[in-house]
Amino acid sequence: MQPAAFDYHRPGTIEEAVDLLGRVEGARALAGGHSLLPAMKLRLSSPPALVDLGRIAGLSGVTAENGSLSIGALTTHAEIEHSGLIEQECPILAEAAATIGDPAVRNRGTIGGSLAHADPAADLPTVITALGATVIVTGKGGEREIAAADFFTGLFATSLGRGEVVTSIRVPKLGAGTGTAYVKHRHPASSYAVVGVAAIVHAAGGAISGGSVAIGGATANPVVLDVIPGEDPAAATSASVAGAITRPIGDLYASGEYRVHLAGVLTKRALTTAIARTG
Ligand code: FAD
Repeated sequence: MQPAAFDYHRPGTIEEAVDLLGRVEGARALAGGHSLLPAMKLRLSSPPALVDLGRIAGLSGVTAENGSLSIGALTTHAEIEHSGLIEQECPILAEAAATIGDPAVRNRGTIGGSLAHADPAADLPTVITALGATVIVTGKGGEREIAAADFFTGLFATSLGRGEVVTSIRVPKLGAGTGTAYVKHRHPASSYAVVGVAAIVHAAGGAISGGSVAIGGATANPVVLDVIPGEDPAAATSASVAGAITRPIGDLYASGEYRVHLAGVLTKRALTTAIARTG
Protein backbone atom coordinates (compact mmCIF):
# COMPACT_ATOMS: atom_id res chain seq x y z
CA MET A 1 0.00 0.00 0.00
CA GLN A 2 1.11 3.59 -0.59
CA PRO A 3 0.92 6.29 2.08
CA ALA A 4 -1.44 9.23 1.74
CA ALA A 5 0.13 12.32 0.13
CA PHE A 6 2.30 14.43 2.43
CA ASP A 7 4.63 17.44 2.27
CA TYR A 8 8.30 16.74 2.84
CA HIS A 9 10.63 19.16 4.66
CA ARG A 10 14.35 18.75 5.27
CA PRO A 11 15.41 21.48 7.69
CA GLY A 12 19.08 22.21 8.38
CA THR A 13 18.67 23.29 12.00
CA ILE A 14 16.79 22.09 15.05
CA GLU A 15 15.10 25.51 15.37
CA GLU A 16 13.71 25.17 11.85
CA ALA A 17 12.49 21.62 12.59
CA VAL A 18 10.77 22.73 15.79
CA ASP A 19 9.16 25.63 13.96
CA LEU A 20 7.81 23.40 11.17
CA LEU A 21 6.53 20.76 13.59
CA GLY A 22 4.79 23.40 15.68
CA ARG A 23 3.33 25.23 12.71
CA VAL A 24 1.85 22.34 10.70
CA GLU A 25 -0.79 20.52 12.71
CA GLY A 26 -0.19 16.76 12.67
CA ALA A 27 3.31 17.08 11.14
CA ARG A 28 5.70 14.35 12.27
CA ALA A 29 9.45 14.16 12.67
CA LEU A 30 11.14 11.59 10.45
CA ALA A 31 14.24 9.78 11.76
CA GLY A 32 15.02 6.24 10.53
CA GLY A 33 11.50 5.83 9.17
CA HIS A 34 11.35 2.18 10.25
CA SER A 35 8.24 2.64 12.39
CA LEU A 36 6.67 5.73 10.85
CA LEU A 37 6.79 4.72 7.17
CA PRO A 38 5.26 1.23 7.69
CA ALA A 39 2.48 2.88 9.72
CA MET A 40 1.92 5.41 6.91
CA LYS A 41 1.86 2.69 4.26
CA LEU A 42 -0.76 0.82 6.28
CA ARG A 43 -2.66 4.14 6.63
CA LEU A 44 -2.49 3.79 10.40
CA SER A 45 -0.90 7.22 10.31
CA SER A 46 -1.40 9.96 7.68
CA PRO A 47 0.60 13.02 8.71
CA PRO A 48 0.16 15.99 6.35
CA ALA A 49 3.90 16.73 6.53
CA LEU A 50 7.15 14.97 7.42
CA VAL A 51 10.05 16.89 8.90
CA ASP A 52 13.20 14.91 8.11
CA LEU A 53 15.76 15.33 10.90
CA GLY A 54 18.53 13.62 8.92
CA ARG A 55 20.33 16.79 7.77
CA ILE A 56 20.53 18.44 11.19
CA ALA A 57 24.12 18.47 12.46
CA GLY A 58 24.95 17.32 15.98
CA LEU A 59 22.03 14.93 16.52
CA SER A 60 24.07 11.77 16.14
CA GLY A 61 26.92 10.07 17.98
CA VAL A 62 28.01 9.16 21.51
CA THR A 63 30.08 11.43 23.74
CA ALA A 64 31.37 11.02 27.30
CA GLU A 65 30.45 13.63 29.89
CA ASN A 66 31.02 13.76 33.64
CA GLY A 67 29.65 10.47 34.95
CA SER A 68 27.39 9.98 31.96
CA LEU A 69 27.18 9.40 28.22
CA SER A 70 25.25 11.61 25.84
CA ILE A 71 23.71 9.77 22.90
CA GLY A 72 22.36 11.83 19.99
CA ALA A 73 18.75 11.10 19.06
CA LEU A 74 19.70 10.11 15.51
CA THR A 75 22.28 7.56 16.66
CA THR A 76 21.30 4.28 15.03
CA HIS A 77 20.80 0.98 16.81
CA ALA A 78 23.85 -0.36 14.92
CA GLU A 79 26.02 2.54 16.12
CA ILE A 80 24.92 1.84 19.70
CA GLU A 81 25.56 -1.88 19.24
CA HIS A 82 29.14 -1.23 18.03
CA SER A 83 30.12 1.84 20.09
CA GLY A 84 33.28 1.20 22.13
CA LEU A 85 32.24 3.90 24.63
CA ILE A 86 28.85 2.29 25.22
CA GLU A 87 30.35 -1.19 25.44
CA GLN A 88 32.75 0.07 28.12
CA GLU A 89 30.50 2.40 30.11
CA CYS A 90 26.92 1.18 29.61
CA PRO A 91 27.06 -2.27 28.00
CA ILE A 92 23.39 -3.10 28.55
CA LEU A 93 22.46 -0.60 25.83
CA ALA A 94 24.71 -2.33 23.30
CA GLU A 95 23.40 -5.72 24.39
CA ALA A 96 19.80 -4.61 23.84
CA ALA A 97 20.48 -2.77 20.56
CA ALA A 98 22.04 -5.95 19.14
CA THR A 99 18.71 -7.76 19.58
CA ILE A 100 16.65 -5.24 17.59
CA GLY A 101 15.13 -6.47 14.33
CA ASP A 102 17.76 -7.35 11.74
CA PRO A 103 20.80 -5.50 10.32
CA ALA A 104 18.62 -3.42 7.97
CA VAL A 105 16.47 -2.22 10.87
CA ARG A 106 19.51 -1.58 13.08
CA ASN A 107 21.26 0.41 10.35
CA ARG A 108 18.32 2.81 9.90
CA GLY A 109 16.37 2.84 13.19
CA THR A 110 17.41 5.43 15.78
CA ILE A 111 17.29 5.61 19.55
CA GLY A 112 15.31 8.88 19.44
CA GLY A 113 12.79 7.35 17.05
CA SER A 114 12.41 4.26 19.19
CA LEU A 115 11.77 6.30 22.35
CA ALA A 116 9.41 8.78 20.64
CA HIS A 117 7.44 5.94 19.07
CA ALA A 118 6.98 4.29 22.51
CA ASP A 119 6.05 0.88 21.19
CA PRO A 120 5.44 -1.40 24.20
CA ALA A 121 7.33 -4.18 22.37
CA ALA A 122 10.44 -2.04 21.74
CA ASP A 123 13.69 -2.77 23.53
CA LEU A 124 15.36 0.58 24.21
CA PRO A 125 12.50 2.14 26.25
CA THR A 126 12.87 -0.74 28.73
CA VAL A 127 16.63 -0.29 29.03
CA ILE A 128 16.61 3.48 29.42
CA THR A 129 13.90 3.13 32.08
CA ALA A 130 16.00 0.65 34.07
CA LEU A 131 19.00 2.97 33.71
CA GLY A 132 17.07 5.98 35.02
CA ALA A 133 18.18 7.83 31.90
CA THR A 134 17.19 11.37 30.96
CA VAL A 135 15.59 12.32 27.63
CA ILE A 136 16.57 15.78 26.40
CA VAL A 137 14.04 17.47 24.14
CA THR A 138 13.99 20.79 22.30
CA GLY A 139 10.84 22.77 21.60
CA LYS A 140 9.76 26.35 20.99
CA GLY A 141 10.55 27.25 24.60
CA GLY A 142 14.07 25.82 24.42
CA GLU A 143 15.45 22.64 25.94
CA ARG A 144 13.96 20.55 28.74
CA GLU A 145 14.93 17.30 30.41
CA ILE A 146 12.50 14.45 31.08
CA ALA A 147 13.27 11.49 33.33
CA ALA A 148 12.76 8.21 31.46
CA ALA A 149 10.12 7.15 34.00
CA ASP A 150 8.05 10.25 33.11
CA PHE A 151 8.66 10.12 29.37
CA PHE A 152 6.39 7.18 28.53
CA THR A 153 2.74 7.97 29.26
CA GLY A 154 0.82 5.09 27.69
CA LEU A 155 0.52 2.90 24.61
CA PHE A 156 2.53 4.65 21.86
CA ALA A 157 2.29 7.83 23.96
CA THR A 158 4.94 10.11 25.44
CA SER A 159 5.15 13.40 27.28
CA LEU A 160 6.57 15.10 24.15
CA GLY A 161 4.66 18.30 23.49
CA ARG A 162 3.62 19.58 20.07
CA GLY A 163 6.67 20.55 18.05
CA GLU A 164 9.13 19.02 20.51
CA VAL A 165 12.01 16.95 19.19
CA VAL A 166 14.12 14.45 21.14
CA THR A 167 17.68 15.69 20.71
CA SER A 168 19.71 13.40 22.98
CA ILE A 169 19.57 10.83 25.76
CA ARG A 170 21.78 10.95 28.83
CA VAL A 171 22.63 7.58 30.40
CA PRO A 172 24.80 6.97 33.46
CA LYS A 173 28.27 5.48 33.18
CA LEU A 174 28.10 2.21 35.09
CA GLY A 175 31.14 1.82 37.26
CA ALA A 176 32.95 -1.24 38.61
CA GLY A 177 30.74 -3.47 40.76
CA THR A 178 27.70 -2.99 38.53
CA GLY A 179 26.41 -5.92 36.51
CA THR A 180 23.76 -5.62 33.82
CA ALA A 181 21.79 -7.87 31.51
CA TYR A 182 19.04 -7.53 28.92
CA VAL A 183 17.10 -10.66 28.03
CA LYS A 184 14.06 -10.94 25.82
CA HIS A 185 11.65 -13.43 24.38
CA ARG A 186 11.53 -12.24 20.78
CA HIS A 187 8.72 -12.48 18.33
CA PRO A 188 10.09 -14.94 15.75
CA ALA A 189 9.10 -12.85 12.71
CA SER A 190 9.93 -9.27 13.73
CA SER A 191 12.29 -9.75 16.69
CA TYR A 192 10.21 -7.29 18.74
CA ALA A 193 10.08 -8.19 22.43
CA VAL A 194 7.07 -10.24 23.48
CA VAL A 195 8.64 -9.52 26.88
CA GLY A 196 12.07 -7.96 27.50
CA VAL A 197 13.76 -7.46 30.87
CA ALA A 198 16.63 -5.10 31.72
CA ALA A 199 18.41 -5.75 35.03
CA ILE A 200 20.99 -3.52 36.71
CA VAL A 201 22.60 -4.74 39.92
CA HIS A 202 25.10 -2.85 42.08
CA ALA A 203 27.36 -4.84 44.43
CA ALA A 204 29.80 -3.70 47.10
CA GLY A 205 31.98 -5.94 49.26
CA GLY A 206 30.37 -9.05 47.86
CA ALA A 207 26.82 -7.95 48.78
CA ILE A 208 24.07 -6.54 46.63
CA SER A 209 23.71 -2.82 47.37
CA GLY A 210 20.84 -1.94 45.03
CA GLY A 211 19.74 -1.72 41.43
CA SER A 212 16.67 -1.87 39.31
CA VAL A 213 14.76 -4.04 36.88
CA ALA A 214 12.52 -2.84 34.07
CA ILE A 215 10.09 -5.16 32.33
CA GLY A 216 8.92 -4.22 28.83
CA GLY A 217 6.37 -5.76 26.49
CA ALA A 218 4.03 -6.92 29.24
CA THR A 219 2.31 -3.57 29.78
CA ALA A 220 1.85 -0.28 27.89
CA ASN A 221 5.03 1.14 29.42
CA PRO A 222 7.95 -0.55 31.20
CA VAL A 223 7.29 -1.62 34.78
CA VAL A 224 10.10 -0.94 37.27
CA LEU A 225 11.09 -3.02 40.30
CA ASP A 226 13.79 -2.01 42.76
CA VAL A 227 16.57 -4.39 43.74
CA ILE A 228 16.55 -4.38 47.54
CA PRO A 229 20.00 -4.04 49.19
CA GLY A 230 21.07 -7.17 51.06
CA GLU A 231 18.46 -9.42 49.45
CA ASP A 232 19.27 -12.03 46.82
CA PRO A 233 17.47 -10.39 43.88
CA ALA A 234 17.63 -13.56 41.79
CA ALA A 235 15.34 -15.10 44.40
CA ALA A 236 12.72 -12.54 43.27
CA THR A 237 9.68 -14.69 42.98
CA SER A 238 7.38 -14.81 40.01
CA ALA A 239 4.75 -13.61 42.48
CA SER A 240 6.52 -10.28 43.07
CA VAL A 241 6.83 -9.72 39.31
CA ALA A 242 3.22 -10.73 38.72
CA GLY A 243 2.13 -8.36 41.49
CA ALA A 244 3.82 -5.46 39.72
CA ILE A 245 2.14 -6.15 36.37
CA THR A 246 -1.40 -5.04 36.97
CA ARG A 247 -2.76 -4.68 33.43
CA PRO A 248 -0.86 -7.05 31.13
CA ILE A 249 -1.19 -6.77 27.35
CA GLY A 250 -2.83 -9.72 25.65
CA ASP A 251 -2.90 -9.97 21.86
CA LEU A 252 -2.70 -12.33 18.92
CA TYR A 253 0.84 -13.40 19.85
CA ALA A 254 0.64 -13.91 23.59
CA SER A 255 -2.06 -13.73 26.24
CA GLY A 256 -1.66 -11.45 29.25
CA GLU A 257 -1.28 -14.51 31.46
CA TYR A 258 1.56 -15.84 29.29
CA ARG A 259 3.31 -12.47 29.29
CA VAL A 260 3.16 -12.32 33.10
CA HIS A 261 4.64 -15.83 33.27
CA LEU A 262 7.40 -14.86 30.82
CA ALA A 263 8.15 -11.71 32.81
CA GLY A 264 8.80 -13.81 35.94
CA VAL A 265 11.06 -16.27 34.12
CA LEU A 266 13.02 -13.57 32.26
CA THR A 267 13.42 -11.37 35.35
CA LYS A 268 15.05 -14.23 37.19
CA ARG A 269 17.28 -14.94 34.19
CA ALA A 270 18.29 -11.29 33.76
CA LEU A 271 19.06 -10.85 37.46
CA THR A 272 21.12 -14.06 37.63
CA THR A 273 23.21 -12.89 34.65
CA ALA A 274 23.56 -9.33 35.98
CA ILE A 275 24.72 -10.61 39.38
CA ALA A 276 27.29 -12.88 37.72
CA ARG A 277 28.59 -9.80 35.87
CA THR A 278 29.09 -7.68 39.00
CA GLY A 279 32.39 -9.41 39.72
P1 FAD B 1 10.75 6.78 12.77
O1 FAD B 1 10.08 5.60 12.18
O2 FAD B 1 11.39 7.75 11.83
O3 FAD B 1 9.80 7.55 13.74
C1 FAD B 1 9.00 6.87 14.69
C2 FAD B 1 8.16 7.88 15.48
O4 FAD B 1 8.98 8.67 16.30
C3 FAD B 1 7.41 8.88 14.57
O5 FAD B 1 6.21 9.23 15.21
C4 FAD B 1 8.33 10.08 14.53
O6 FAD B 1 7.64 11.29 14.27
C5 FAD B 1 8.91 10.06 15.93
N1 FAD B 1 10.29 10.57 16.01
C6 FAD B 1 11.38 10.03 15.44
N2 FAD B 1 12.50 10.66 15.85
C7 FAD B 1 12.07 11.64 16.68
C8 FAD B 1 12.76 12.64 17.44
N3 FAD B 1 14.10 12.74 17.45
N4 FAD B 1 12.02 13.47 18.21
C9 FAD B 1 10.66 13.37 18.23
N5 FAD B 1 9.97 12.45 17.55
C10 FAD B 1 10.67 11.59 16.80
N6 FAD B 1 12.30 -2.14 17.55
C11 FAD B 1 12.72 -2.75 18.66
O7 FAD B 1 12.87 -2.09 19.69
N7 FAD B 1 12.96 -4.11 18.69
C12 FAD B 1 12.83 -4.90 17.59
O8 FAD B 1 13.11 -6.10 17.65
C13 FAD B 1 12.37 -4.27 16.40
N8 FAD B 1 12.18 -5.01 15.27
C14 FAD B 1 11.76 -4.37 14.14
C15 FAD B 1 11.57 -5.14 12.99
C16 FAD B 1 11.13 -4.53 11.83
C17 FAD B 1 10.91 -5.37 10.60
C18 FAD B 1 10.91 -3.12 11.78
C19 FAD B 1 10.48 -2.41 10.52
C20 FAD B 1 11.11 -2.35 12.91
C21 FAD B 1 11.53 -2.95 14.11
N9 FAD B 1 11.73 -2.24 15.27
C22 FAD B 1 12.13 -2.86 16.41
C23 FAD B 1 11.50 -0.77 15.29
C24 FAD B 1 12.77 -0.01 14.95
O9 FAD B 1 13.64 -0.08 16.04
C25 FAD B 1 12.43 1.45 14.64
O10 FAD B 1 13.48 1.93 13.90
C26 FAD B 1 12.21 2.37 15.81
O11 FAD B 1 11.19 1.95 16.64
C27 FAD B 1 11.83 3.78 15.35
O12 FAD B 1 12.97 4.47 15.06
P2 FAD B 1 13.10 5.28 13.72
O13 FAD B 1 14.36 6.06 13.83
O14 FAD B 1 12.96 4.35 12.57
O15 FAD B 1 11.87 6.29 13.84
